[in-house]
Amino acid sequence: MANQKSLTLVGDGQKGARIHDLVKAPANTPWAKARQQSWDASEPATVYYTPETLADGTPCSAVTVILRTKGCHWWWSSGCTFCGYFNDTRDDVTNEDLHAQWTYAKSKFDDFKDHAMVKVYTSGSLLEDREIPVPFQETVLRDCQDLGKELIVESRCEQLTEEKLAWATSINTSFAVAIGLEAYDDEVLRFHVNKGFTTKSWDRAVENLKKFNVRVKTYLMFKPPFMNEADALLHGVKWIEAVAEKSDEISVNPMNIQRGTIIDRLHRHNEYRPPWLWSLVEMIRQAHPTIHPNNTGNGGEGQVSRLIVHPTAGGRVRGAHNCGACDAEVVAAIERYAVSGELAEFEGLECDCQKAWAEEVALEHALPTPLGISKPRRGNVLDALRAP
Ligand code: SF4
Ligand SMILES: [Zn+2]
Repeated sequence: MANQKSLTLVGDGQKGARIHDLVKAPANTPWAKARQQSWDASEPATVYYTPETLADGTPCSAVTVILRTKGCHWWWSSGCTFCGYFNDTRDDVTNEDLHAQWTYAKSKFDDFKDHAMVKVYTSGSLLEDREIPVPFQETVLRDCQDLGKELIVESRCEQLTEEKLAWATSINTSFAVAIGLEAYDDEVLRFHVNKGFTTKSWDRAVENLKKFNVRVKTYLMFKPPFMNEADALLHGVKWIEAVAEKSDEISVNPMNIQRGTIIDRLHRHNEYRPPWLWSLVEMIRQAHPTIHPNNTGNGGEGQVSRLIVHPTAGGRVRGAHNCGACDAEVVAAIERYAVSGELAEFEGLECDCQKAWAEEVALEHALPTPLGISKPRRGNVLDALRAP
């Protein structure tokens, strides 16, 4: 009896792998190390501009500066299950390097002359002293204040203390903080995302931000790892409802699979399908009355927050996708909704694959299938099974 094999699904009696070890393993592989060392620390990862909307609703142009940094302190000690930012960081970036990157970005866009908004992203938190030297935090805050630009920075919750915000707002009086909350659900934060903070820390951070009149942008993740499509839809709508009143803007990020992450492993093992675009349309339809109680669209009377869904890699197998034939049209409608806030953007959208999606969601509601029943790849199932 001693050697009897237990159910393979529950392992062979050894201690289970810790999610922490699974998250960390790829970051220490030779390919990841070599990639990190290949970056030029004096140039930002990327600088580009996109159409945006100012806090008062005026359309504008925004420059996004993605800096090459040491990365996120939570990643150093553990890390989120879908975060591939470690691919873009370098652990020896100095204060001088960051200043050189910033100067590069400013000169590339002529001191952001034609752009009213600047987003500064650091693959972590700009206001975290262990990641970003304080003099550089100050340079970004001060320059944007002096140039009269609306600034958006990203941060986890624990940096947003009263003390830190008092300091930051003494330098810059008009900025917004984007927080990657991902889920308004402690169980999901802990077991699906490995986020390292709770909904309570988000509540506290938002309270502090409001105290200092700093705008709040909340990122939510649509379909985290270990979740099926039907649950993702249920939760997605619930989380939007939970954070809407407290967020000036809600940005829902449908899962896209980044190299070397847990979600990448699940996907390669055929245990995860990125979300259907139809689910995003349905989530928007269901959440719309919360955001626009008077159904007036963006900028209208009574608007509670702004809802933005941007399917990164939309239409590709590693991003939110449908059957392949209707993807471009559905992605375009979702992106138009972010600008207009009108459900009319989805009128007339139709495709045969909608039936397959609806059937899958209905089945997943009825059956206990935590990893879902969707095919993780498009195309013919037999071909996929025959593939080496
Ligand atoms: S907190 Fe953000 S940057 Fe840090 S590991 Fe998680 S997703 Fe990545
Ligand atoms: Zn289709």
